[in-house]
Amino acid sequence: MPRKLTEADLKKFEELLLVLRREVAGDINHLEADAFSTDGERATGDNLADVGSDSFAQEFSLELLERDGETLERIEEALKRVEDGTFGRCGVCNSWIGKERLKAMPYAKNCISCQREAELEA
Ligand SMILES: [Zn+2]
Repeated sequence: MPRKLTEADLKKFEELLLVLRREVAGDINHLEADAFSTDGERATGDNLADVGSDSFAQEFSLELLERDGETLERIEEALKRVEDGTFGRCGVCNSWIGKERLKAMPYAKNCISCQREAELEA
């Protein structure tokens, strides 16, 4: 059974979430600039420029953007849970999510068994 998180653990996860939030938010700005640039020139010489036609690259950026927006939302939610003291608990069964899982995905909402069930239902 996963153990309860200590104050020190919580602090660490909060820091991790803040860093992640900054990174994801930074990515969104970067991708927005990329996806919505209309002059046809890729501002950032990254891999997106190498995938072929411009329209494909544009679609690709927008797809990433969407996913990052969702991630950002989940990070915000997790930070709220740190504040109200429910961080680390499964939103479905209320058991502890487990540090290993939180390390891999600090914004995880559910424990692994609830997550698997949700995926099966989806
Ligand atoms: Zn659960």
